[in-house]
Amino acid sequence: MILLDGKKTSADIKQEIAKSVKEIKKQGRRAPHLAAVLVGIDGASMTYVGAKVKACQLVGFESTLIKLPENTSEKALLQQIEALNNNPDIDGFIVQLPLPKHIDEQKVIMSIDPNKDVDGFHPVNVGRLTLDLPTFISATPFGIMELLERYEISTSGKHVVVIGRSNIVGRPMSILLSQKRKAGNATVTIAHSRTKDLKLLTQQADIVIAALGIPEFLTADMVKDNAVIIDVGITRVPDDSKKKGYRITGDVDFKGVSNKASHITPVPGGVGPMTIAMLLKNNLQAYNKMC
Ligand code: NAD
Repeated sequence: MILLDGKKTSADIKQEIAKSVKEIKKQGRRAPHLAAVLVGIDGASMTYVGAKVKACQLVGFESTLIKLPENTSEKALLQQIEALNNNPDIDGFIVQLPLPKHIDEQKVIMSIDPNKDVDGFHPVNVGRLTLDLPTFISATPFGIMELLERYEISTSGKHVVVIGRSNIVGRPMSILLSQKRKAGNATVTIAHSRTKDLKLLTQQADIVIAALGIPEFLTADMVKDNAVIIDVGITRVPDDSKKKGYRITGDVDFKGVSNKASHITPVPGGVGPMTIAMLLKNNLQAYNKMC
């Protein structure tokens, strides 16, 4: 079994980005600048945004974190986004999701300038991805594609079962894998909560991408020998033995499935770190387009 090491691969990517930034600075140009907007004090969101800001520092990006209180009105948030859209010093920005319930998430996404939408959530960018045009590919699917490519996993003609159809993971993943591209050309089945006989499908899969958010859902009896397993899930499971009171658990029963898999991503240390690296890559792309 080969471990698909997202921690190491993302470190390699960050090093490549840092090298590009060094080159940019050597030429006397300003560094790429990524901004993040965080509304409220959701623990997981704060952790994610913190990690993104830290990653910016590591590669030499400028970063700006805009923290807004939980009771920020939709109007105030839209004004903040407008300011970021018009700020020539900001190359790309993200609005950390989920947002408080009184704010219309879709309206917020729609208000982001597609040229600065480094999360790739704006309909223009989703449309471009669907048409296989240059775009910002949302960071998690982008990270998985990169991991498959760098580990030279053969996907052409392979049967991939993607479990989960969310707009940020499952759906774009299924589109990318079916396209004519590196780590593409696969035959893709997209499964969701209404799928019948999921086990029958996963047992036939050469590659399974588990993105449903149910801890240890995919078990050894559900996969065939030598399958490639990508675990996207991140769930905080209460655990008194941990200092934080919880542990991070993926959607795959790692212990059982790793005995059968040819390749598998661990959680943590698999898809998660890749997501951050690809966000930086998208921001570098935004910078290169604008500068
Ligand atoms: P979501 O809740 O938006 O979507 C879950 C999907 O799973 C839905 O499409 C649903 O139909 C499907 N589903 C639910 N129960 C199912 C079942 N029993 N059988 C088959 N399908 C079922 O979730 P999401 O935003 O796509 O996230 C999925 C998981 O990935 C979560 O744990 C999330 O935290 C994690 N995630 C990780 C990263 C990362 O960087 N590693 C990024 C995004 C999301």
